[in-house]
Amino acid sequence: MTEPPSPRTRLRRGAERGAYDQSTIFEILDAGLIAHVGVQTDDGPLVLPMAYGRDGDTLYLHGAAANHLLGTGNGHDICVTVTHVDGLVMARTPFHNSMNYRSVVVRGKATKIEGPDQKLRTLKLITDHVVANWDESRPVSDVDNKKTLVLEIPLTEASAKIRAGDPVDEDDDVAGPWWAGVIPVETRFGAPYAAADFTGSNPMPDQYRALTGKTPDER
Ligand SMILES: Cc1cc2nc3c(=O)[nH]c(=O)nc-3n(C[C@H](O)[C@H](O)[C@H](O)COP(=O)(O)OP(=O)(O)OC[C@H]3O[C@@H](n4cnc5c(N)ncnc54)[C@H](O)[C@@H]3O)c2cc1C
Repeated sequence: MTEPPSPRTRLRRGAERGAYDQSTIFEILDAGLIAHVGVQTDDGPLVLPMAYGRDGDTLYLHGAAANHLLGTGNGHDICVTVTHVDGLVMARTPFHNSMNYRSVVVRGKATKIEGPDQKLRTLKLITDHVVANWDESRPVSDVDNKKTLVLEIPLTEASAKIRAGDPVDEDDDVAGPWWAGVIPVETRFGAPYAAADFTGSNPMPDQYRALTGKTPDER
């Protein structure tokens, strides 16, 4: 295990499940669909789910120019978490039930991106994070660009935590009659279908169809 980048990212609970290397962290982020973004607001902590994109060691978040959470986070320390649930771990006692998972926690200062060209570049990154769509759609206008707020956060202070495998029960319970094991959890893409009001002439982009039956990790 590599060393944590800062004292506050060092896993204390379940430290053996931690990883701090970029390849593990980037892999979990790249396979994720949503991030939970946490900020401190005047009326208390707020955590909201959001889309995101990554380029190298920078993570990008976007929203409406008036977005409360992003506006509050600009210039401040925020926390971004991405989670995959891979299984329900059913132990011999509920006390030892758990989940198999991969998660990343990113901490750091969020900064608003000002330049329209740089904003556009990061909006493409966020758009194409799940499935490449930017080049297949109506170009984003200057007005759209102005209506959008983009924050960047460095991925230099991040940790990963991974749990895999069977329940960990107490020795006395292992000999007991209770069932123990894992119920796998998978997120899969379904077959795409056209919008009810679709009358356009462009065919469905191949990359949309190619997702069918795949997990986010395989896309
Ligand atoms: C799907 C899922 C379900 C979970 N359910 C529970 C639950 O019900 N109860 C429970 O106690 N815990 C649960 N956990 C684990 C939880 O996320 C924490 O790791 C754990 O609770 C330890 O918390 P702590 O404050 O003592 O962390 P500490 O070990 O003190 O955290 C120190 C630092 O380690 C890093 N870190 C901690 N947790 C994670 C993480 N999950 N991923 C990446 N980095 C991390 C962060 O940088 C954090 O600042 C769950 C995790 C996942 C992904």
